Amino acid sequence: MNDRYRGNSQPIPLVPIKVRPTLKGRRPDPQALAEVQALLGNESRRRDLLIEHLHKIQDHYGCLSDRHLVALAHEMKLAMSEVYEVATFYHHFDVVKDGEDAPPAITVRVCESLSCEMAGANELLAKLPQILGKEVRVLRAPCVGRCETAPVAVVGQNPVPHATVEKVQKLVQEKAVKHGSGSHPDLKIITPGHIGFDEYVKNGGYKLIKDCLEGHVDRETVIAKMEHSGLRGLGGAGFPAGRKCRIVSSQPEPRLMAVNIDEGEPGTFKDRYYLERDPHRFLEGMLVAAWAVGIAEVYIYLRDEYHGCREILQQELKNLTEKADFPLPPIQLRRGAGAYICGEESAMIESIEGKRGEPRLRPPYVAEVGLFGRPTLEHNMETLFWVRDIQEKGPEWFSSHGRHGRKGLRSFSVSGRVKKPGVHLAPAGITIKELIEEYCGGMQDGHTFYGYLPGGASGGILPASMGDIPLDFDTLNEYGCFIGSAAVVVLSDKDSAKMAARNIMRFFADESCGQCTPCRVGTAKAVKLMEAEKWDQELLKELSTAMMDASICGLGQAAPNPVLCVMKYFPNELA
Ligand code: SF4
Repeated sequence: MNDRYRGNSQPIPLVPIKVRPTLKGRRPDPQALAEVQALLGNESRRRDLLIEHLHKIQDHYGCLSDRHLVALAHEMKLAMSEVYEVATFYHHFDVVKDGEDAPPAITVRVCESLSCEMAGANELLAKLPQILGKEVRVLRAPCVGRCETAPVAVVGQNPVPHATVEKVQKLVQEKAVKHGSGSHPDLKIITPGHIGFDEYVKNGGYKLIKDCLEGHVDRETVIAKMEHSGLRGLGGAGFPAGRKCRIVSSQPEPRLMAVNIDEGEPGTFKDRYYLERDPHRFLEGMLVAAWAVGIAEVYIYLRDEYHGCREILQQELKNLTEKADFPLPPIQLRRGAGAYICGEESAMIESIEGKRGEPRLRPPYVAEVGLFGRPTLEHNMETLFWVRDIQEKGPEWFSSHGRHGRKGLRSFSVSGRVKKPGVHLAPAGITIKELIEEYCGGMQDGHTFYGYLPGGASGGILPASMGDIPLDFDTLNEYGCFIGSAAVVVLSDKDSAKMAARNIMRFFADESCGQCTPCRVGTAKAVKLMEAEKWDQELLKELSTAMMDASICGLGQAAPNPVLCVMKYFPNELA
């Protein structure tokens, strides 16, 4: 561990692990135990690695059988219930009970989130099972973070952009031919090509962190520049990034860092876009923030859907470790397992600790009591991506951008009925009409602008007549909306806000962690009410109030936004 990052060399106290001398309940089958031991090799059996180890078994065997779960519990000295409750929480783990058949070797996931539904996902879901046959499993999936290429399917771990039945069928055949139907390794994932370590260094990369470590820049200057730039948390919450660094830096050591790359908000794909192109800019920003705050150890949490990004990060973290001529803090890359709620910072921390991703009650805040009980600096990946530019070009560079009285830059993930969907870096405060015309090439031919979601699934729905509102943090609150992670979905006269709200409520019902009743029961009940021909508006309003007032976290609190917006701004659809 490098003292220059954390300021002392105290060992990090981890969450106490309950080690059971003898396990109660079912005894492991010797063969299953040997198989699990072979897969885990010499890797640590620490409790927080439970999800990583579950992935190893799932990747190798294509599912998690009872016999392997019992063996893993035995190997990690955990109660079977602890392993089982984690394995069954995440969408990407297939738990197969004794006597049940394992799932087919090839799984096709079809994204059913809003942009994909608008682009024809339901037709794919209707046709694919018949065409692919029983040897292939076709599942509905929540947003896979590729909305600009809707509709999207994923064959194994390989995304199929602009998916058609023919494209999916071709990839399924390639996978079956290459690996056989009884094995589970995947095809090579294609990514757009990224700036590697050598090229990044050649262009001045990692000079900033070296200047920091060599004493040419002081910590106060780094934090002050972040504060003055006006950079805010770009994962959606918008908390001032510099202030967060200052708060955590005043907490007792050892302090930890958790990087959130679990962008699961339907409509959001900007983190993937930057990771697939310039991963070291993010990594250097992470190192600079870690150094400025005195961080002992860094955990990067990447959503499981981003298989290509995982390969890139694994490769570039290896390059960084082997080639960097400056010291690094310990960096752990952790893999999510398919749970939208893990984008919530405290749920992500639970998941990094190897548990179910259930949000914590606050206070205490994660800045004070976070990962493994330690003060934790939690930042979204894109927030860190801008750190180097802000330090090198000055805070004024970032704040000099902006429109309609707002300051800064926003990476808008735009999908829906525009000619050029994708990530568009635009001034904060730009309106949706300006964004569509100046950055997105206008509306698709034959489509007229009808409405928009300014902030993904949670951020509400507004009509085209309200298309002149500056898009930024705080500007939409008075309309019952927010920008969040700047995931903009554009609706046309061929769509309906009612359909959009129903799609979103189904998503929330699927993704509710179930911890609190207003959210767990409220989202499911709302789906039923919204599937009716005529909405019971009074009951939906009452339900919405209960969810907003009494849910623990942002999912339950924001889930009613779209339905309330439909009632408020699209009354014509409910007449
Ligand atoms: Fe879980 Fe929903 Fe409660 Fe959040 S609001 S803790 S997602 S049940």
